Amino acid sequence: MVAASSSSALRIVLLGPPGSGKGTQAGTVAESLGVSAISTGEMLREAVAAGSPLGLRVNEIMAAGELVDDETMADVVRERLAAEDAQKGFVLDGYPRTLSQAATLQEILDRSGKRLDAVVQIDVPESELVNRVLGRHRADDTEEVIRQRLAVYHEQTEPLIAFYREGSLLRDVDGHQSIEEVAKSIRDALGGEG
Ligand code: AMP
Repeated sequence: MVAASSSSALRIVLLGPPGSGKGTQAGTVAESLGVSAISTGEMLREAVAAGSPLGLRVNEIMAAGELVDDETMADVVRERLAAEDAQKGFVLDGYPRTLSQAATLQEILDRSGKRLDAVVQIDVPESELVNRVLGRHRADDTEEVIRQRLAVYHEQTEPLIAFYREGSLLRDVDGHQSIEEVAKSIRDALGGEG
């Protein structure tokens, strides 16, 4: 069971490689929990589309499949988590992606006496990921960039699995199933609260 902390708000992180379906699942899970889905990738894509200073800064980094620096991301996430709708809980999709970002997230939550309730890891076989992402046809989804994003995931983001497992927050979900089955597995992993 996932016990809600100070209030009934649930704060969940979804972890998974590009192509694991975590964006889709974040929306579904957030809706069933009655909280906001917060996707840093989506926020950055919107900034790029709007041509804002942030967007101009991150455009090339995203196009190359690299990670935006931790300091920039800390500002983005600190501001987003301070918004009214995030107070009732959230499903974070795409953050944290480095151990340093995980520390920042903990710090942001600590300051307001909050904590994460669970980190759900969506596990998908490597061979399936490239095909899945290629099927999405986004501008940043050329095969070369996908491989780069996967390499970055293995190198920088995968260590978070051990980090959160150690903190007993991690829930593993088999992502090699239909969208509906993955959604159900996530609900089960959260103790039926979703
Ligand atoms: P996503 O939609 O989550 O795959 O994110 C798309 C791209 O946005 C990533 O490949 C990164 O370039 C950037 N991005 C999103 N979230 C983060 C993050 N937490 N840290 C660094 N870069 C990020």
